[in-house]
Amino acid sequence: MPKMSPSVETGQPGEACQTWQVPECPFPIEWSPAVLEAIRAAAMDAFFSLPHGGAEIGGVLWGTRAGGRVRILEARPLECEHALGPTFTLSAKDHARLAALLEEGGRDLRAYGWEPVGWYHSHTRSEILLSAQDVEIHNRYFPDPWHVALVVRPHAMRPMRAGFFFREANGSIHADSSYREFLLQPAREPVMERAVSPATASLPPEPVPERAPPASVPVATPPPKGSHRWHLWVAIALGMAAGLVGLKIDWTRAFAADRPPSVLLMAYDLDGQLQIRWDWTAEPIRSAEAGTLEIADGATHTVVALEKQRLRSGTVSYARIGARVDVRLTLRQNGGKIHEEFTSFLGQAGAPELRRELRNQAVRTRELERAVADLRRAGRSDPQPRGRDSPR
Ligand SMILES: [Zn+2]
Repeated sequence: MPKMSPSVETGQPGEACQTWQVPECPFPIEWSPAVLEAIRAAAMDAFFSLPHGGAEIGGVLWGTRAGGRVRILEARPLECEHALGPTFTLSAKDHARLAALLEEGGRDLRAYGWEPVGWYHSHTRSEILLSAQDVEIHNRYFPDPWHVALVVRPHAMRPMRAGFFFREANGSIHADSSYREFLLQPAREPVMERAVSPATASLPPEPVPERAPPASVPVATPPPKGSHRWHLWVAIALGMAAGLVGLKIDWTRAFAADRPPSVLLMAYDLDGQLQIRWDWTAEPIRSAEAGTLEIADGATHTVVALEKQRLRSGTVSYARIGARVDVRLTLRQNGGKIHEEFTSFLGQAGAPELRRELRNQAVRTRELERAVADLRRAGRSDPQPRGRDSPR
């Protein structure tokens, strides 16, 4: 294991994780925390959209390379049609879409002097590595020495793991594993009555434009409706198709031209944390000067001030107390116009045991799935039995 650079952060909650550097990589990789948070959230939503590991997602990383470092400033999702299954395996149509995404898809970003610096995708069924297919994609679409690949690995109960891949000085790619994995924790915001610091505040000043560029498609895929965690498991039990249909409907809803602009404010529970999310690419967000999130949780009333950068991160976490939480997002727009949206989270106050049981069941199911997958993998690819991976 190579020695870690002191600039590498561990990605603990509330701690910006911004630079990735290993001795083998000819350049440090930097990122805007909001971009990786958006990727994390999208990977998580897709992970829970289907049983047995969910769907994998991916897209293009945009940014700059200056001063001998690669900086990731934006992520644009590739809408994989999953014609070949839930993994991020590209069909002919997906390949065409990726080519288009790299060309016309980033015209607005190129205007900022940004360029594709690599790509990202999630692995829900394999470890953090680049498969032969992944290396093919990398070599075909991201052939330059500074192009990087990010693989994220969602987990139902633990923080998401992630790792970068790159070309070494001799052009080779260490694809079997990332030289260094790191954790992507959900963004946790202070929920006291004070301003939330912008997600990118800790980045050194450089060519980041003050106004984030408009995105054509949001990274964050809205989760299925009524997405309290245990509702999700019930939905999963009812059938995998429903999840996909739910996502499709939300996409259509998000981009229907004849609807008034909405930021699709939503709230759902993830490991006891209320996730308040909105479409950060929506027009009301892009034209907002600032915003306020008011959270009414029983007798507790919390106000979170949202600056531009925080609005563009699209997410706030809140440690809820009660079963019902009402949320109001107020946006102050250019010219003084006010845009308001409401959402409510309705937990099941009377059924904590049931929820606990469902949660435990979910953990057991995951463990079993993992054990079976390991067993299959061991049986398929490993001539020697691997005691460590055997199911308990
Ligand atoms: Zn892959």
